[in-house]
Amino acid sequence: MKSDIRVCSAWETEHERPVYTLGDACPRCGADAVNSAPAPFNPEDPYGEYRRRARRRDRRGDAD
Ligand SMILES: [Zn+2]
Repeated sequence: MKSDIRVCSAWETEHERPVYTLGDACPRCGADAVNSAPAPFNPEDPYGEYRRRARRRDRRGDAD
């Protein structure tokens, strides 16, 4: 039995963490939902925290 769980294709820029759904689109931002099998999220990624910080800074919009 295969899994139909998908993940928001734009979660890295739109969300703090992967957003999973059973539908064709992200329920939070409307982006395409893609098969989650090739997980884009690596909890051991040494640069993960750096990227998250960069996104947070970018979201606040003080990058002038
Ligand atoms: Zn999304």
